[in-house]
Amino acid sequence: MPVYEYICQDCKKITEARSSFAEKEKGLSVTCEHCGSKKMVQYFGNMTVTATFPLH
Ligand SMILES: [Zn+2]
Repeated sequence: MPVYEYICQDCKKITEARSSFAEKEKGLSVTCEHCGSKKMVQYFGNMTVTATFPLH
């Protein structure tokens, strides 16, 4: 099962999420394991993630 990395917009820490491709297609909801925030954005290493984060 692939592992995805998500960065928390509140505490800026990485949480790893394991999910099948099918589950991810349906919309994976990830909760920060550090602060419990739901404001998670998929993290792609050195790429900038803030540009695609929805503000509303
Ligand atoms: Zn957090």
